[in-house]
Amino acid sequence: MSVMLLRRLFVGLVWVSIFGLSDARLAHAEGRIVVTIKPIHALVAQVMGSTGSADLLVGGNASPHTYQLKPSDARKIAAADVIFRVSEAVEPFTGKIAALLSKRTELVTLQTAPGIMTLMRREGGPFDSHFHTEAASHSTAHDHADDHDDANSAIDGHVWLDPANAKVMLDEIARVLSKQTPGLAATYQANSVSAKARIDQLSSDIERDLAPVSGRPYVVFHDAYQYFEKRFKLNVVGSITVNPDVPPSGKRLSALRARIMKSRAGCVFGEPNFDAKVIASIIEGTGARSGVLDPEGTSLAAGPNLYEQLMRELATNVKACLARTEP
Ligand SMILES: [Zn+2]
Repeated sequence: MSVMLLRRLFVGLVWVSIFGLSDARLAHAEGRIVVTIKPIHALVAQVMGSTGSADLLVGGNASPHTYQLKPSDARKIAAADVIFRVSEAVEPFTGKIAALLSKRTELVTLQTAPGIMTLMRREGGPFDSHFHTEAASHSTAHDHADDHDDANSAIDGHVWLDPANAKVMLDEIARVLSKQTPGLAATYQANSVSAKARIDQLSSDIERDLAPVSGRPYVVFHDAYQYFEKRFKLNVVGSITVNPDVPPSGKRLSALRARIMKSRAGCVFGEPNFDAKVIASIIEGTGARSGVLDPEGTSLAAGPNLYEQLMRELATNVKACLARTEP
């Protein structure tokens, strides 16, 4: 390589790094990124790293399935450059976002990113016929997207619970952010590579931890987990749709208990927002134990570590209950 060429290369590099720097400052001040739910917010935060932060819409212990947009959300949405969501199927409130978007805003639906592995919702399938409860009781807050009849709503939107999907989403997030702020592309790329490496580690840890309870039957209240079950070879045998705040009638209780016993479920899992007394009354006399799972991270603090924490807690809580049951 000639000295001349080296000099040109050097000047080019200096120019790129100065340009990159000013671009980074610009992005810090102006690139407004909005994310719908905590697990996705964590992935976006990992890709952004120290270049900036993203706004979260569904914070606290709110459920993405029943969330209603607030006036402050509408302001965030109107000012956004990029909005990341999973899908309307899992976040019905995002159906209203389109009307609020400014022309420059890009709405990214991660569920449809190339490479995402999707599964059909289980209602109506074999899962339904041997366990899911009757349509008459469908007044529950956790009964997602039943009012959507487009093709997409047939897909189960809890895609982030498969770590392989989380890696695809990291790639997509890095791609979109890089297009938004080209000067930070290398940073986004490097951040997503290290985030994917952490997810590989997470996935193999969970696989190892859950292996001893693989195949043991259990029941959930909110049918959110098929991505997690498939990846880690778990055996959920049914979901029970009940309104977590309203105790079921005596007749319904005995029907639910009969179903739990028939499926030989060793554990019945509720969620942080569910009334523990309702769960206790359902499992009474069935021999099943109860546990709590938090697939949307409602009880966790938002931030870059939330995704890993959510996945590890799911694994820990599934294992803690199932390990005490008969294989
Ligand atoms: Zn859900």
